[in-house]
Amino acid sequence: MSLPPFDCHTHRLRPNAIHNVRLGVAGPPSKVWYCAGIHPWDSGRYTVQNVQWPINDHQWVALGECGLDRMCPVPYERQQTVFIEQLAISEQFSLPVFIHCVRAFHEVALLRRSDSYTLPWIVHGFNKGGNALQTLLDAGLYVSFGSAILDPATPAAWALPQVPEGSFLLETDESDVSIDAIYATAAVLRRCTVADIHRSIDIARQNTRLSGLASPTA
Ligand SMILES: [Zn+2]
Repeated sequence: MSLPPFDCHTHRLRPNAIHNVRLGVAGPPSKVWYCAGIHPWDSGRYTVQNVQWPINDHQWVALGECGLDRMCPVPYERQQTVFIEQLAISEQFSLPVFIHCVRAFHEVALLRRSDSYTLPWIVHGFNKGGNALQTLLDAGLYVSFGSAILDPATPAAWALPQVPEGSFLLETDESDVSIDAIYATAAVLRRCTVADIHRSIDIARQNTRLSGLASPTA
């Protein structure tokens, strides 16, 4: 049986996907790739010192999701501290970062422009209009799109065709939608074939250090 297309961020257990682990809330699953980090919503309770980092686990392929969320009740300064500490961990362990970002695009882009960071950052679940997309791309970030693109009226569906090849990933996140449906919709929105989407995702995986990952079942 062939694998489904690569899914860069999911909260479910899916094949060929990166499973999201909220440190402090859940432990790493077996036999899947995962990202692990402190979600901004958990940053009131957890810091990088009081969670268990899965060091030496080859299934741990990315940091996150972590980030900044202006709609979250955790004080913003506290979120900033915990986010920046995790960015340092990503550098320490050479892991790309999946970022949860709500109304903080300019600040994330500004951070990215500092000389301290060398690893790829991916803003996941991108669904924002205005100049947020260009702000992120100009700062060298990558973006990932999920089930929001299935609705043509969303900012995500508007934004996806504007992202250069190799700069976006696709994900299912918390939705039940199949990753195949998201790839098919991405092809429609970008007026290309699904094979073109696969090629672009392969480039994006190389750019974000998410290609050539060791088999999670090994
Ligand atoms: Zn998520």
